[in-house]
Amino acid sequence: MVLTPNSSSHEKLVHGLKVLLAKNFIDNLREETQKGRLKKASQGYFIGQVPYGYKKLNPRKTIIDEQKAPFVIRAFELYGSGLSLEHVRNQLYDEGFIYQPAHNKISKGQLGKLLQNINYVGVLKFKNVIYEGQHPPIVSQEIFDKAQSSFRKDNKPLYRDNHNFVFAGMMTCAECGCAIIAEIKKGKYIYYHCTGGKGKCSQKSKYISEEKLEKQFDEAVKTVNLAQVHIEYIKQGLKECLKDKKEFSEELRENLQAEYKRIENRLDKLLVGYCDGTISTQLYNEKSIAWNKTLEEINIKLDALRVANQKYYDEGVKIIETLKNAYWLYKQQPNEEKRKFLNYLLSNCTLNGEKVGYDYNLPFSYFVNFDSCRKKYACRDSNAGPSA
Ligand SMILES: [Zn+2]
Repeated sequence: MVLTPNSSSHEKLVHGLKVLLAKNFIDNLREETQKGRLKKASQGYFIGQVPYGYKKLNPRKTIIDEQKAPFVIRAFELYGSGLSLEHVRNQLYDEGFIYQPAHNKISKGQLGKLLQNINYVGVLKFKNVIYEGQHPPIVSQEIFDKAQSSFRKDNKPLYRDNHNFVFAGMMTCAECGCAIIAEIKKGKYIYYHCTGGKGKCSQKSKYISEEKLEKQFDEAVKTVNLAQVHIEYIKQGLKECLKDKKEFSEELRENLQAEYKRIENRLDKLLVGYCDGTISTQLYNEKSIAWNKTLEEINIKLDALRVANQKYYDEGVKIIETLKNAYWLYKQQPNEEKRKFLNYLLSNCTLNGEKVGYDYNLPFSYFVNFDSCRKKYACRDSNAGPSA
């Protein structure tokens, strides 16, 4: 949709809603796809690549790679015996273990990751949850634990505890563009200031208390809090968004289904080629694994699309409910959720001295001056509306 300065305020509102709903639709799709993957993981199957030392025969069958597994076993043994990562990678090489034909020596980073990969004991870790795996273990739990205690001995934690400051990472300095960070003073007072990372900045020594920032962000949220009288107007706009969604999701489904058919055809041809003897067993196995994996991913996406479609309708209701109770809801939330909500609502947050600057995201920018817009344009809605 093309917006011009002459677009009516109603057109702008509908456009704003469409932008937001489209974003939510895509977020939902991603979330549902994730859930599909989670389901596979919870049944103990690897998604995508398997760890070094394993071979995936098909989406539901992973076996030990007899050529690579000894490398893994020896790495765990050496590290568990108290050698450093650097020492272990050299020792492996000296003992004749080859990581990969192109990289005979494993890097320290790769070795560290390998040694912390709990999947080697036969479980499947997905998003920090451990499920019983369908694959055989390469090392025992005991050997794995021993290696982990070596990590604890060797490595100090890299990051100190994050204090979960509510406005951390939200603003940049209006003068120099550096991040505004938070700091605790005298053990309990939270202050924000410019890092001054780009050199000279007069704001660097200016500290503003969290309280003062909080008041300004509270005001920002209060402004979008809508009264019931405005809701009807927005509901009308939401109805107009439905057509767009239908077109988008239909197109997506058709594309996915076409892709599915195309790969199925290829698999058919592959089998024919194999039977005719024009395609080797090795090539047949390679291709059929890869294409079946793609088919599986497409199925997950199609399932996700179905759910995202249902959720779309709830989204509109959610926007209205959010706006109805925005301030009250916001104040109830823990810091992390407050930050999420502010990011949803605002962008380009800056700090200039003690003053916070920000822009409202779509479609909230339309609601900010809702009353003045309505009064001013109620009688001539098709004429020039206010600029966002
Ligand atoms: Zn600065």
